[in-house]
Amino acid sequence: MTATATQPPSAGDPGRPVRQEQEEASTEVTEVGPGLYRLQLPISMPGLGHVNCYALEDSDGLALVDPGLPSIESWQALGERLAQVGARYEHVHTAVVTHSHPDHFGGVHRLRDDHGTQVLTHADFRSVWVDADLTDDLGSDQLDLADDEHMEQVRSLMTRPTPWGATRTPPSATELRKWAEMDTTGGSRSWRVPEPSATIDDGDEVELGGRPWLALHTPGHTHDHLCLFDPVDGILLSGDHVLPTITPHIGGIGPLDDPLATFFRSLERMKELPGLAAVLPAHGHPFTDVSGRVDDIVGHHEDRLETIREAGHNLGQGTVESFMQRLFKERSWGDMAASETYAHLEHLRILGQATRNEVAGQAVYLTH
Ligand SMILES: [Zn+2]
Ligand SMILES: [Zn+2]
Repeated sequence: MTATATQPPSAGDPGRPVRQEQEEASTEVTEVGPGLYRLQLPISMPGLGHVNCYALEDSDGLALVDPGLPSIESWQALGERLAQVGARYEHVHTAVVTHSHPDHFGGVHRLRDDHGTQVLTHADFRSVWVDADLTDDLGSDQLDLADDEHMEQVRSLMTRPTPWGATRTPPSATELRKWAEMDTTGGSRSWRVPEPSATIDDGDEVELGGRPWLALHTPGHTHDHLCLFDPVDGILLSGDHVLPTITPHIGGIGPLDDPLATFFRSLERMKELPGLAAVLPAHGHPFTDVSGRVDDIVGHHEDRLETIREAGHNLGQGTVESFMQRLFKERSWGDMAASETYAHLEHLRILGQATRNEVAGQAVYLTH
């Protein structure tokens, strides 16, 4: 989830084509390699119309990569798509989750609880926001959003100041309960990041769908992002790390000191994969030119850094929000845009191209 368009979003602008990633989920299942299927599941998020779930077939059943949102609509779509390849939920022995965003992990709760599916992630897989604190405060299985006290604890965690000292308005209790009700079980686990059954590290090899896959830890979009590469057929399951036409969101909240530099390093590694023949992204269509996409995405961020440096010349010392307003169109202003702006400002600070000070508890940056 959570991507920003490389150029201004085209949805709703008459005369402009819909981006691949915004297309509605097709009901058609396509075989993108022998025993490897692309299943599109419905999602509705800014800039995104579907998430690709890849099904990898072997003699024991299926492994799924990114089985969609926790909504009943997604669950039913998954069941219908599985039937097209002659399978049912109980045939899914493994679910790989590329990273800790709900459009990628949502479907695993019910697969695991009702059908015994094993959940495989990168070793760092966890939420950077709510989960760790909630687990400490409430215990991992006790969260109940119907309970007013729990609801207030969740909302107060969401109002914690950001790393740049801004305060945020949490969603209303009604909104939060609406999200929870999206859960296929009617509980509140939908937006909790699941516990993996097994984890892998960069360089590990795992066999799925009868193929050997090399695990690639690709932090940037999230700290726990995992790509899988089949070196025999040159297939890359790229998750949200490299998408065909949009640029994944790079946020400043999380355990990475310099998410943008980390993302650049993770991107450059994609160019070195030997014999890369097909990239299977989590949103949009399969593509081949990974080097071209990497250059486009890096170029997009370099343009943003230049915009910040120029804005700094006019602003003088500015808050994250004031830089955000120079960097994003007004319709995009908000927590995500501020977080992405902060990631860029911190990148410049670490490069020695900006200085950070505090004024009234808020970070202010001066670019040089
Ligand atoms: Zn996504
Ligand atoms: Zn994501």
